[in-house]
Amino acid sequence: MKRIGVLTSGGDSPGMNACIRAVVRSAISSGYEVYGIKRGYEGLIDGDIEKLVTSSVADIIHRGGTILQTARSERFMTEDGLNKAIESLKKCEIDKLVVIGGDGSLRGAKKLAEMGISVVGLPGTIDNDLAYTDMTIGFDTAVNTALHAIGNIRDTSSSHGRITIIEVMGRACGDIALYAGLAGGAETILVPEVDTDVDEMCQKLITGMHRGKKHSLIVRAEGVKISSEDLAKLIYEKTGLETKVVVLGYIQRGGSPTAIDRILASRMGIHAVELLNEENVHKAVGIRGDDIFSMDIDEALNANKSNHVDFMKYCDILC
Ligand code: ATP
Repeated sequence: MKRIGVLTSGGDSPGMNACIRAVVRSAISSGYEVYGIKRGYEGLIDGDIEKLVTSSVADIIHRGGTILQTARSERFMTEDGLNKAIESLKKCEIDKLVVIGGDGSLRGAKKLAEMGISVVGLPGTIDNDLAYTDMTIGFDTAVNTALHAIGNIRDTSSSHGRITIIEVMGRACGDIALYAGLAGGAETILVPEVDTDVDEMCQKLITGMHRGKKHSLIVRAEGVKISSEDLAKLIYEKTGLETKVVVLGYIQRGGSPTAIDRILASRMGIHAVELLNEENVHKAVGIRGDDIFSMDIDEALNANKSNHVDFMKYCDILC
């Protein structure tokens, strides 16, 4: 019988379970046996692989995290590790694989494809840092989690009449900050892709206070060069305004996925299995507008992103 493997790798993201469910159920309905590989590439090297059936993925569409667990694997980056991973797949007679993860995971998938495995990479990361796709699985949920927190912080920030810097995740990508900041009505959004003039920002804060603003919210992406603590000190020195820092951290990685993430994950999972019906597949799946598409993994990993400046313009007008 034809066999497909599925694994989740890198940082977990809400919607990974919905994606696993879609891969398992669509593969079974296409006549495959499906195998779940535990702990990403670490579990693949160790041969930590189990058969999944329709009921294995019951009751998971709403759950954050990943039932297959995930890992970052140094061993997989070595020749020996890669060979062991291939051996594990051969031993279980799996020659088609779905990898759900971020940029690093898709780079790993490319390595497996070069070794003759048919691979489809699905973008599973809250960071939205894969340029070839408009959206990654988990991003929408992370934005909504950050937005909820921004709303709560707005209440207390306004009661105390202070400035609050809210630090959100995203690694080197500012998308969570941009979307949550814009939706949350932040006065300032700081992202790594666009340089910020701190003097200008402080002047804007002072002008806002003179205009009657009771408080200000600054949403800062974690990848911005100046740290939140240093920024808070600098703002206080330059404006005399009390400035607090709130780091949202891992709450952004968990939680029940939004409808948008569940549907995106389900559509992408089904598309991956359709692609694997062909031989020698080396594809990454993405979404552009409302269309699910696929492209060569190599090409996907070399794409460039450029939406940040446009988004910052909206913020300049609205905030
Ligand atoms: P996130 O965006 O959530 O951090 P990610 O998939 O980018 O997810 P990484 O830690 O970068 O997370 O990558 C996951 C794993 O993929 C790594 O631990 C490693 O095993 C493998 N990997 C990363 N880069 C490469 C590479 N260039 N070649 C082979 N394998 C890689």
